[in-house]
Amino acid sequence: MFTLHHTRTAATSINTRILIGVVLLLAAFECVSRFSLGIIDANSIPSYIALHNVLEFVAALVSSMICIVGWNRHNNHANARIMFVAVSFMLVSVFDLGHALSFRGMPEFVTTNDDQKSITFWIAARYVAALSLLVAGTVNWSPLTKPAVNRWTYLITAALIGAVVTWLAIWEHDALPLWYDRTTGLTSAKIWCEYGVIAISALTAGIMLWKSKLSPTNKEALFISAVVVMGLGELYFTWYTGLDGVFNVLGHLYKVIAYWMLFRAIVVDVIETPFDELADVVNYDALTGLANRTYFSNRVAETIERSAATNAKMAIMFLDVDNFKNINDSLGHVLGDQVLIEIGNRLSNSVRQTDLVARMGGDEFMVMLPGVTAKAAETVATNMLASISAPFCIDNNEIIVTPSIGIAIYDNDGRDFATLYRHADTAMYRAKQDGRNTFRFFNQAMQDTAMRSLQLEHELRTAIQHEQLTLQYQPQIDLRTNTLVGAEALLRWNHPVLGNVPPSEFIPVAESTGLIVPIGDWVFRTAAQQMKQWVEAGLTIKTVAINFSAIQLRQPGAAKTLLDILSELELASHHLEMEITESVAMDSKFQYFELLNSLRTRGIKLSIDDFGTGYSSLSQLRMFNCNALKIDQQFVRNLTNDNKDTAIVKAIIDMAHVMGFVTIAEGVETLDQLQVLRSLGCDIVQGYLYSRPVSATQFEEFATACKKCSKQCDECPMIK
Ligand code: C2E
Ligand code: CA
Ligand code: CA
Repeated sequence: MFTLHHTRTAATSINTRILIGVVLLLAAFECVSRFSLGIIDANSIPSYIALHNVLEFVAALVSSMICIVGWNRHNNHANARIMFVAVSFMLVSVFDLGHALSFRGMPEFVTTNDDQKSITFWIAARYVAALSLLVAGTVNWSPLTKPAVNRWTYLITAALIGAVVTWLAIWEHDALPLWYDRTTGLTSAKIWCEYGVIAISALTAGIMLWKSKLSPTNKEALFISAVVVMGLGELYFTWYTGLDGVFNVLGHLYKVIAYWMLFRAIVVDVIETPFDELADVVNYDALTGLANRTYFSNRVAETIERSAATNAKMAIMFLDVDNFKNINDSLGHVLGDQVLIEIGNRLSNSVRQTDLVARMGGDEFMVMLPGVTAKAAETVATNMLASISAPFCIDNNEIIVTPSIGIAIYDNDGRDFATLYRHADTAMYRAKQDGRNTFRFFNQAMQDTAMRSLQLEHELRTAIQHEQLTLQYQPQIDLRTNTLVGAEALLRWNHPVLGNVPPSEFIPVAESTGLIVPIGDWVFRTAAQQMKQWVEAGLTIKTVAINFSAIQLRQPGAAKTLLDILSELELASHHLEMEITESVAMDSKFQYFELLNSLRTRGIKLSIDDFGTGYSSLSQLRMFNCNALKIDQQFVRNLTNDNKDTAIVKAIIDMAHVMGFVTIAEGVETLDQLQVLRSLGCDIVQGYLYSRPVSATQFEEFATACKKCSKQCDECPMIK
């Protein structure tokens, strides 16, 4: 997406189209003047000398400016081409001055002034100018390696040439061919000399155009125009009849214009381009060429100001590439960068010229759509999803990436950049939560959730330290032996102000912030300590089950941490059961087999939680050397009145038994459910029917009562 650069650079210097117009106009005028003004050319122009002096001094001034600007360039950027042009034009300005000063009618300049002397200076100036532009414009210059040395070399060479030519013009001009005859006018020597200059100029322009494949940059266009106008000017000097006629004046005028263009070209190169490059660094993203955060936020702020006046809407999109880290990790950063560039291009192609696409950093992009309502933004977002998720090929790798997009609308969702940005980000986050590769519009409820998450995150950071976390234990009853066999440890957070925050609310926050790691370690240690106490107190339960989050398992050294805690507490590992949800266990991206099986070989048990809600493949399931499948509550809930769920539960139990797994049904609330489960062959049950999750002390009471009781589970006195 480099069009941004071009449009902007063009705006800061003379537009190429205007240049072409000016050159064509000058050429047309020259054609017309050739025939219409030819008749009066023989007449002397009143005060010609004064006019000539003005034009020559202006020309000399401009060439000196070219020289000064270029000469001083050496210390910031060693550009050989500019240094060469600068030194050459110093020579040109000296010769032009020599020409003006030795013009007939001027006070004596060293020796007697005459046409021959003055024209010798003139021709020298023309040839130095034309030849140096030919060399400057067509040679491939490499940067000066020793700019300070090189520029003095140029200067000394120029001074020598200057001295020789000056000596020739002042003292030896009569040895040269006659340039002008008072009675017959221009000599053919002079005319051919001028033709030579024209030919060199045409050659320069031609080569430059050809090298630029007919689409010169702005700077090149200026340079070429300067050369063309210079050639056009020379043509006048082959036509004039009187040295002080109209053609002579017009030729000088064209020369001044040509020099001015050249000066602009040098200024663009020396001053404006580096300045633009600086502006690029400040405003544009180096990788994609898109606007960066600073430029984007400024532009949004400007547009808001305008929209406020006109009551116009605007859409702000926040786009994040889904799982970009995977691309970087698997393909490497170089290809990752290519992917970002491609995404930038596709984004730019799916918006209008008046919209703005920016890269905020990493894999985050933003788009501003001025004057766009929610309805139109939806269409744009749909197109973006389609465009970005189309496969592309980089280095023979077919790559498919998808984005998640959040959209905020000015002024419904915010009246300043910061708010719109935050809200678009919140909406993007929701799009991620809703399964990625989609877009979401911001709404207030999202904001409330986001605020609450932020608050929970903040409070959760100190929850362990402030002893706000506790564990509750829920009994697990073995239907085969009618005994209490285990407990599931469930985390509770009691906050002095927020009250009891349910795990369904704070666990996702802990997971997304990584806080689940220290919290999980705390849960593991606390539950293991509790189990050890129970073992020592002679409680008959076999295991305590602990819930594990995927994030914990992904921690390097996760297994070692757990085993260290166990050996520190001197607790036999068979007393512990890890609960991993089915979706985590079956996640093909992160293979937990090795980790889990290594813990299994150390004796820690493993059960697959919420079974039936994920997408297990039997082959994967077999690879997990697990003990139990925990049938999800949602199937247990409808057991008595829904044949389908009954069939599912039966299928799970039968399959588990074939594979040698125990089945645990959770969320058992009624006796009917219990009886159906028993009839289906379920091994263990857990649920409110027997007990809610309770404190350790309450659990001990439950266990003691259980131990004393000799009744069947179906007739358990706990069942109310
Ligand atoms: P889960 O592992 O599926 O835990 C079972 C949930 O069902 C618990 O909710 C439990 O209180 C509830 N429950 C038990 N019996 C019944 C019943 O008969 N009826 C109904 N309606 N619900 C019943 P809880 O304690 O709110 O925990 C929710 C989830 O939070 C857990 O689901 C688990 O995924 C997560 N969680 C809890 N503690 C921890 C922990 O220490 N670490 C991690 N990573 N996750 C935890
Ligand atoms: Ca569980
Ligand atoms: Ca569960």
